[in-house]
Amino acid sequence: MNYQSILNSIEQEINIHDFEGKVANYIPELAKVDRNKFGMHLHCINNGHYAFGDSNERFSIQSISKVLALIMAFELERDAIWKRVDVEPSGDPFNSLVQLEYENGIPRNPLINAGALVICDILVSHLKNPKADFLNFIRKISNNPTINYDEKVAKSEKEWGFRNSALLHLMKSFGNIKNDIETILDFYVYQCSLTMTCKELSETFMLFANKGRILGTNEQIIPWNRIKRINAIMMTCGFYDEAGEFSFRVGLPGKSGVGGGIVAIHPNYYSVAAWSPKLNPKGNSAIGMAALELLTTKTELSIF
Ligand code: GLU
Repeated sequence: MNYQSILNSIEQEINIHDFEGKVANYIPELAKVDRNKFGMHLHCINNGHYAFGDSNERFSIQSISKVLALIMAFELERDAIWKRVDVEPSGDPFNSLVQLEYENGIPRNPLINAGALVICDILVSHLKNPKADFLNFIRKISNNPTINYDEKVAKSEKEWGFRNSALLHLMKSFGNIKNDIETILDFYVYQCSLTMTCKELSETFMLFANKGRILGTNEQIIPWNRIKRINAIMMTCGFYDEAGEFSFRVGLPGKSGVGGGIVAIHPNYYSVAAWSPKLNPKGNSAIGMAALELLTTKTELSIF
């Protein structure tokens, strides 16, 4: 299959000016990003690389990082984590508080903010230096020592993190948060501030397409049965209250972030990342979704 010509046709077919969408501005630092950026990178299991547009520019991966924190916590606590966070789609916005109240402080899944904050709490309990240890883990699975946090974005989010702070307080009242709230919030905003290019993101997520092995060295970092479960959670919960729509249109497990990035994987075939900061009303990249829909349609490669 000529993947590069398929990507070129996607780039030509999508006119970014046809798409409405707002750059996330509740984190002031994110509002500064040029809304017309658009790039995509496809990384195939045979180590092929295909790309277009702004695919080599770093952006804030935001919630995409929740998958990476989850896999680390899953390694540390194994199935005990499912006592503190469920695996059901939420159908509510990512930062909603309502379900938590009537579900006794147990978040619906680890990819909404409440669930991701519980995962941060678990990491803070286990890691000596949570920020440094998490970063080292990401550098290892991406095979890229240059991946880093964006301090400005982290600080900007922390100043405006009232909802996340509220989620933590509510869950603490139910006994589902063990550590100091400030410490968890600080780790969480750093985790979300990781920056990557589409190429780096697709390389990092190759782990999920390659049964938990690093492509190239073939080192088994995560057992396949745990990768299988995380992929299932990405499929059902990876796109806020639009997970059904993403599954319907694209047909791949994936995760989005309010920085406008989307990563998706086709197990045993490829991982792919798209970036465009214009978000639809549900908080997903409108253009990123359209590009990925075209990719699975044109390649006839979706998990369905
Ligand atoms: N750090 C962001 C927040 O908590 C992440 C949101 C997202 O990307 O969905 O609001």
